[in-house]
Amino acid sequence: QPPSKLALVTGSTSGIGLGIARGLVKRGHDVVLHGLGTPEVVQSAIQTCRQALPDGVQREFYHHGADLCDPTQISDMFQFIKSRYARGPDILVNNAGMQYVEPIEKMPVEKWDQVLAVNLSASFHTIRLALPGMRQRGWGRIVNISSVHGLVGSPMKAPYVASKHGLVGLTKVVALETAGSGITCNAICPGWVLTPLVEAQLEARAEKEGITVDEAKMSTLEEKMPSKEFVMPNEVGAMVVYLCSEEARQVTGSTLTIDGGWTTR
Ligand code: NAD
Repeated sequence: QPPSKLALVTGSTSGIGLGIARGLVKRGHDVVLHGLGTPEVVQSAIQTCRQALPDGVQREFYHHGADLCDPTQISDMFQFIKSRYARGPDILVNNAGMQYVEPIEKMPVEKWDQVLAVNLSASFHTIRLALPGMRQRGWGRIVNISSVHGLVGSPMKAPYVASKHGLVGLTKVVALETAGSGITCNAICPGWVLTPLVEAQLEARAEKEGITVDEAKMSTLEEKMPSKEFVMPNEVGAMVVYLCSEEARQVTGSTLTIDGGWTTR
């Protein structure tokens, strides 16, 4: 077993983030959970992580509920981590994200600002706060959860597509600025993953088109995913675990797709 590291996974109270947290916990890493949600949601995420602990390993799990639209709360989260572990994270996974679907002319201005803040600017803040400690220790892994929408577009998703393309750009700059320092920075670009974020879109589509949610699932997959299957959160988790390994030390500035063939068409 390689030495355990301290990881912060944003948006790990739900969906892909929770799958990533589980994957890192399974590998024996300490994971700080983050995300919005009721105390029950947070407790259930902590319970999921406890169950993933390798045999004989004991861990304390902490959660921070910083609203990522607010840079001050992001700084508070880093202070909180320092107060618990006397250091900052070795592994930073920028996973939290949100979606808002409307054509540009109908897109509320405040939704544009909010999606950009959560999906893009928050990663700038977490990275700038995590880097000094990583540089001091000469080791770091930054993984940004972008999307196929960081590589190609889709109608009705202007702030999402713009923010995810922006996150790919930020990944490249961080990779160049940290090259040769023991720190890597990569972006993962998933296609459809079955999570609450996508379930909400499927329900909205079913209602709009007067079809069942299962029918909405099928047409959604048929439109975009040649494999016609959803990616599962633990599969994204496995990719993060690989990027955080020693063997991945020369993988930096990359965009790794996990999309059933979406972007090869
Ligand atoms: P999800 O809605 O299940 O989880 C999102 C997480 O982000 C939650 O923990 C939520 O609390 C947190 N979050 C959202 N807004 C926040 C805010 N203002 N402050 C703090 N936390 C906030 O979504 P998911 O599907 O698991 O998505 C995770 C990431 O993966 C997102 O960045 C998303 O864009 C990306 N992604 C998802 C898919 C997909 O098909 N589900 C595909 C490609 C990329």
